[in-house]
Amino acid sequence: PMRPDCPLDKDQLGTSTWGLLHTMAAKYPVKPTKEDKEGMKQFFNLLGKFYPCEPCAHDLRNDLKDDPPRLNNQQEFSHWLCQLHNKVNLKLDKPEFDCSKVNERWRDGWLDGSCD
Ligand code: FAD
Repeated sequence: PMRPDCPLDKDQLGTSTWGLLHTMAAKYPVKPTKEDKEGMKQFFNLLGKFYPCEPCAHDLRNDLKDDPPRLNNQQEFSHWLCQLHNKVNLKLDKPEFDCSKVNERWRDGWLDGSCD
């Protein structure tokens, strides 16, 4: 059971972090500046260094090396992050997420209005 006053375990940390990351991608500019792109690239490199689950961070560094963040616009970045998350899902035997729905899930809410 989730106790809000206890340290986060690996899965709680993961779910909270994905929430932050996907929401950052949802709010990323449609027309990012060079500074936006450089900053976000740096953010992910630092996440690979400081993510507080060392085996997770180790794999993240490799994933970022194989497929660096694509930061040219909101759509591209959100899709890239969805694919990164799917690599972790695959590794953990979790279902693959349909990345065509990433903006519904994290930016707009479902088309059926269930988030309104
Ligand atoms: P989560 O994977 O936390 O997902 C939360 C919600 O995001 C889901 O309910 C779904 O609505 C949505 N979602 C699912 N997939 C996608 C997607 N592809 N795109 C967009 N939205 C999606 N755990 C380990 O055991 N080993 C690791 O190596 C590891 N590496 C990690 C690396 C990072 C960078 C992060 C942030 C987490 C990592 N984790 C790792 C944690 C792991 O990914 C999960 O967060 C954890 O297992 C809890 O899973 P969950 O089923 O609650 O859903």
